[in-house]
Amino acid sequence: MKKGNSEELIFLVPVCKHNIWGGVKLREEFGYPVEGDGIGECWGVSAHPEGDGTVRDGAYKGRKLSELWAEHPELFGNLQYDRYPLLTKIIDAQDDLSIQVHPDDAYARKNENGSLGKTECWYIMGCKEDATIVIGHNAKDREELKQMVAEGRWQELIREIPIHKGDFIQIDPGTVHAIKADTLILETQQNSAITYRLYDYGRLQNGKPRELHIEKSLDVITVPAKSAEESVESISNLPENTLNQIYTCEKYTVFKMDVNGSAVFEQSYPFLAASVLEGDGSVDGSEVHKGDHFIIPNGYGKVEMNGSMSLILSTVER
Ligand code: ZN
Repeated sequence: MKKGNSEELIFLVPVCKHNIWGGVKLREEFGYPVEGDGIGECWGVSAHPEGDGTVRDGAYKGRKLSELWAEHPELFGNLQYDRYPLLTKIIDAQDDLSIQVHPDDAYARKNENGSLGKTECWYIMGCKEDATIVIGHNAKDREELKQMVAEGRWQELIREIPIHKGDFIQIDPGTVHAIKADTLILETQQNSAITYRLYDYGRLQNGKPRELHIEKSLDVITVPAKSAEESVESISNLPENTLNQIYTCEKYTVFKMDVNGSAVFEQSYPFLAASVLEGDGSVDGSEVHKGDHFIIPNGYGKVEMNGSMSLILSTVER
């Protein structure tokens, strides 16, 4: 049966970003049409002013996601948010990223011109053997944290833990974190770009160190950090053809879906933002491929997926 305009899948043309630490996978493996090397990020479902996605086809072809949010709130379940609340990215790190921390909403509102804070989470799409990630730190209390930072005892302070493909990592505001080289991730985050850089391994860019934000970082870092065991969760053995909820918090709910053959589920959320991580297939007759990003709007109803593919999906609470 033909669905009405408000019930079409909304495919987006992502915005890719160049970064000094980026690789070439986003063009060469995912096929995004972006020139040059050092392609660090694909903002797949984004209405952020620094990377507002465009609708690829259909009734809303050419509209920015931010415009669609403002003009057609019914597609997103008429939510009480002043902007599209999430941002979905694929990140390809060829080099280590600087070590960062994000503020929460209250701190950002007060100190960053009313911006949202940033809660984010990572699904590890790929990494090398014996890969690690920076999550948390080893300071006992705030005094020790300040002292270690002042004395440049970074090796002692920074906590690195092992990761594998299929791991899920929740990064609450105040969590010290960084992706290491050769890691490919799907990030689901609040629609915000407020980041404080704590440490950059002493590297130089054009002969100069990049700016650090030590005072703000010290203000917002959670002490002590959440334990290493609590920070990483393996979700590699989920049932197939099921919309598996893998995490929920105040800011978002995230699902993993592995389609092998045929899968049917009900879209009962305000909206679902979907990203195809691997494989190919179809969604209600529309062909989809690795690297596609689309929104399943409010009121869509039954969703049928066919093929062999993995997706991460996200939504927010009503
Ligand atoms: Zn971050």
